[in-house]
Amino acid sequence: MVHRFTARAVVVGDRAGTVVPDAVLDVEDGLISWVGPAAEAPPAGDAEVTALPGVLAPGMVNTHSHAPMVLFRGQGEGLPLDRWLNEVMWPREAKLTPEDVEVAMTAASAEMLRHGVTTSVEMYFHPERMAAAVRRTGARGVITHPLIGLPGFGTFDEQLARATDSAGTGDDQVEWGIGPHSAYTVPLPVLTQAAEAAREHGLLLTTHVAETTTEGAGLLAQHGLSVPQLLAAHDVLGGRVLGAHCVHMDDGDLELWREYDVAVAHCPGSNTKLASGTARLRDMLDLGIRVGMGTDGPASNDNLDLFEDLRLAAQLARLRERDATALTAPEAFWLATGAAAAAIGREDLGQLTVGRRADLVHVDTDDIAFVPVGEVTDLLTHLVWSVGSRHVRDTWVAGRQVVRDGASTTVDEAELRADVQTRAMRLAGR
Ligand SMILES: [Zn+2]
Repeated sequence: MVHRFTARAVVVGDRAGTVVPDAVLDVEDGLISWVGPAAEAPPAGDAEVTALPGVLAPGMVNTHSHAPMVLFRGQGEGLPLDRWLNEVMWPREAKLTPEDVEVAMTAASAEMLRHGVTTSVEMYFHPERMAAAVRRTGARGVITHPLIGLPGFGTFDEQLARATDSAGTGDDQVEWGIGPHSAYTVPLPVLTQAAEAAREHGLLLTTHVAETTTEGAGLLAQHGLSVPQLLAAHDVLGGRVLGAHCVHMDDGDLELWREYDVAVAHCPGSNTKLASGTARLRDMLDLGIRVGMGTDGPASNDNLDLFEDLRLAAQLARLRERDATALTAPEAFWLATGAAAAAIGREDLGQLTVGRRADLVHVDTDDIAFVPVGEVTDLLTHLVWSVGSRHVRDTWVAGRQVVRDGASTTVDEAELRADVQTRAMRLAGR
């Protein structure tokens, strides 16, 4: 059975910024079976037809998230990183239950779908509970098993075994991955083992890299190598590796990323809020390094809104290079869609082209933010510069509607909000 969507325009999500006016997009078995101008579309036959007045865009891919941290939004505001961790985050996280994680992830997943984000790469405690949450909201997740040395989560060997056991047990909605926290919190031999396991099973391996100057300085003093050099020396690079942040990278570090085809989760919202620094986005793209947008956790962003991050990415790239052409609007949008899918090695997501999964976002263009339109590509320009997640009306994952007129069709968001509030207060000891 074909489900046909007609729209004012389809934004493809490719690097060139292709926009198809007066468009048709057909969905069959959760995949896009045809897309193009209405004038060239095959006969509709007995297809179900949904006529959309606005723009149809790809579901965005959030390449770096710790979404259950919606429990800690705004907590410890203004504290420096060490005090924020020691006094605010860690005491709360020590009290987290699996149920807390599932409720928080459900609420966060519904929020992301409402913002037009259909897939997120997650790194947090109780991954099986996060997977359950994603299945409930109807989103997709690349859920990584965390490797972290904290009491209550088992030895590194046990954590690694859980990650490898999950390999091959994913489905259309949940892909399992492996998420060692970082080179400064996980012993190097464990990172090496994790990378071996990831390569053997084809898992995505994601870890924090060069987020702050202090983490790099510590490792440099200890080993005489930068974080990327250290990872290369310990055979961590190669395979599907995604480095989160990658802010403090010199030319040699970037060259290693190019050589090993390591991808980058670019998180400008978090990097500005925590004053981590400005990543060398233009240089990365010029070297052919794969980059995708990420929000990072909602306790350090503080939201799960990729529209904000992609705009910030363009603004920061232009400021950094003192050049208004340093990142174009089509490139910025591509970084949250097609490029983000490529960064996580999921070429089945992120673009509205035949054969990819039908993860669709309908953006309402009946708004002054979308005026004027001279060329059809103005719609994409407005999408980047003047429009936000508030204009997302409807979202589909694999052709199934999960957001209708700005509200989740799968979960009760008001109930989840109240539940998150209660749990957050308990964790805060109030
Ligand atoms: Zn992170």
